[in-house]
Amino acid sequence: MSLVFDGKCVVKRRMLTLDPTAFQVEPIDRADHLRGQPDALCALWEEGEAIAFSRGRPLLDEQGCLLRQPTAISGAFEAAFFLGLDGARGVFAVEMSQQAGDPGDAPRDLRMAVGRLPDRDGALAGVGAALFGFHHRHRYCGRCGGAMVTAHAGWRRDCPSCGHQTHPRVDPVVILLIEHDNAILLGRQAGWPPGMVSCLAGFVEPAETIEAAARREAMEEAGAELSGVIYLGCQPWPFPGQLMLAMHGKAKSRTVRLNTAELEDARWFTQEECRALVQGHHPSAAIPPRSAIAHVMIAAFARGN
Ligand SMILES: [Zn+2]
Repeated sequence: MSLVFDGKCVVKRRMLTLDPTAFQVEPIDRADHLRGQPDALCALWEEGEAIAFSRGRPLLDEQGCLLRQPTAISGAFEAAFFLGLDGARGVFAVEMSQQAGDPGDAPRDLRMAVGRLPDRDGALAGVGAALFGFHHRHRYCGRCGGAMVTAHAGWRRDCPSCGHQTHPRVDPVVILLIEHDNAILLGRQAGWPPGMVSCLAGFVEPAETIEAAARREAMEEAGAELSGVIYLGCQPWPFPGQLMLAMHGKAKSRTVRLNTAELEDARWFTQEECRALVQGHHPSAAIPPRSAIAHVMIAAFARGN
């Protein structure tokens, strides 16, 4: 039991502990101090390691791990992104054309593949995929419309025309464990697979605290009034650049006023139902895989700690 201060409320509650999940390992020393040193990076490239991507998606080897190659056979240093240092070794992300006829080298949808990748590989793939996505979406300057160029070893884009610089952005998203009297509220969007339900979620807005965003999203999507909102943990979700912020709050009632522009359905699931969801035995509903923080949030509620 803990005392938690949230705005004007002081509430006594148990704390939920989230299991580790995908993208939470810090796989590498990001070595920001080297990004602006092309001579040092060029020296690292000579003996470095290249993580192969195709169209921004990671390539996997026959063992299902990231396809790694010596940088010497991996194309041009100028086109590589510096991911960081693994010990003294430089690790780079490179775009490689898909090798026709070799199914082992087919680019993988990281969302589907991450659950089967070793933790460190998944995290490295997330960094690389996020960088490729950043460059793909920021080809032109948001200020003057000029073509931008890659800078700072892949961690920035610069506009030669007006001097504007842009960096990979991260968008915070609150994802909500809304609890009432030993049940939680899960919803589904219309485009999801049949039966799929998950925690409600939404983007944090400018100049908004994450606690306020959690209260606002619960009210907007389901008419649920939250109190005692606390932060549980986070997960990078590089599709393209979200940071999922797991929040736990207590609903004042089980009344649901569904916002059908956001959700197709939302209903309360008891702790016993949540155990069945986590085990994949629920008769009519399913939740996202273990690689998603929604799963570990529901699992934490299901076991009660
Ligand atoms: Zn510009």
